[in-house]
Amino acid sequence: MSGDIVKKGTTIFTGKPFVFTLNSKHRTTRCDNCLKSGKLLKCSGCQYVYYCDRNCQKESWPIHKAECARLKKVSPKVLPDAARLMARIIFKLNQGGADEVGYYTDKNFRKFKDLMSHYSDIKVDAKRQEHFVMLYGVLLQFLDETLMPNIAELMGIYGRICTNCFNILDVNMNTIGAGIYLGASVMDHSCKPNAVAVFEGTTIIVRTLTDLPSLDWSQVRISYVDLLNSNKDRREELHSSYYFWCDCERCKQEEPMAEAAACPNLSCDSPCSVEADKCEKCDTKISVEFKETFREVVDFTAHHLEKMKTMAYLDVSKICLKKQKGVMHKFNIQHVRTLEMAHIAAMDLECWEDAEFYGKELMPGYLLYYGEVHPLTGLLYLTTGKMQLHLGKPKEALKALNKASMVLMITHGDKHSLMREELRPLLYQAVMESNSDTHGA
Ligand SMILES: [Zn+2]
Ligand SMILES: [Zn+2]
Ligand SMILES: [Zn+2]
Ligand SMILES: [Zn+2]
Repeated sequence: MSGDIVKKGTTIFTGKPFVFTLNSKHRTTRCDNCLKSGKLLKCSGCQYVYYCDRNCQKESWPIHKAECARLKKVSPKVLPDAARLMARIIFKLNQGGADEVGYYTDKNFRKFKDLMSHYSDIKVDAKRQEHFVMLYGVLLQFLDETLMPNIAELMGIYGRICTNCFNILDVNMNTIGAGIYLGASVMDHSCKPNAVAVFEGTTIIVRTLTDLPSLDWSQVRISYVDLLNSNKDRREELHSSYYFWCDCERCKQEEPMAEAAACPNLSCDSPCSVEADKCEKCDTKISVEFKETFREVVDFTAHHLEKMKTMAYLDVSKICLKKQKGVMHKFNIQHVRTLEMAHIAAMDLECWEDAEFYGKELMPGYLLYYGEVHPLTGLLYLTTGKMQLHLGKPKEALKALNKASMVLMITHGDKHSLMREELRPLLYQAVMESNSDTHGA
């Protein structure tokens, strides 16, 4: 523990994973070693994994040599991601990995066995047991019997994965892999975190989001779950995934907007509950018909958001948004999520005008649920600026990109590739174009 104040935007931890895997979804499009996309070469042994070059292949070999022939055997079937991660842990422990230490201060460290396994919770968790049985079957085929740990050991490994695994994210904060980081796993959760984990390849980088009085690891909090969820949903997710009931500051706060209807009086912006009979602020009556419409829109939106989990569609999002208008409160989480889908789909389709429009619409929701200083808020400013450059609005772009810079300097820092390779070139372009804009006028 250090006595000095730690400013927001300080890197307090970096580390390489104990083990990691690239998600199989990206198997042919990203390097299995450094997770970069680009031109790749296939491993001639297994014909299953891809690498940037010989260097990446060489770097990966100590762990890949144990799986190469086995992956060839299962191919063209794809090994489930969790099974591959477990197999890699088993190989690693066999290679002396049990003694590997992950430091989180100069003196304090954790080994793999120090990670919580939640053994007794996992054992009575029907969903996890079912998953475990499936993985057991897969691993039995993948490994030889001599390598296969006994059931109790295997469940200990499984439990450690379930409750300690980090999703490895690309620069756009999309999940591309999973990893166990021994030192970083010391951090507890809060829905109002004071730190955040970002990644550079497979390296985890933990940065402070607020000033801390000192670097006391028992006080550092990251969020284990997506913060764009209601208190109820976050708490249930945390309990079913990590076996604790969150009682952080945010969970204790009332949140009248998360599931709210709009006030039927269009000039009132107060969130209304359909359990009530009138608006608390302006006393407008909430009719039975209005309540019915609201519930229909909630069901309709839930159905389509579920369907869009794998792919966002602009037309579907627009239909949902039309139905929500005047019915759902602007900070209703379903509405914010629908705006997010519209934004993503518009970007995928390169509909720059729609992308800019929905990006701006989405911003108040992001500020409320993620907060001003959050990677996703910073990225939304960045993409908004990018859209505005496409649309020939360099002055507005410059404003958005400066905001992006303020946020990302804290969450990522100026050495991160997101700053160097994405934000800075855009900022440069925006400055140049807004200068020539002025001269033209
Ligand atoms: Zn590579
Ligand atoms: Zn191979
Ligand atoms: Zn909480
Ligand atoms: Zn009202």
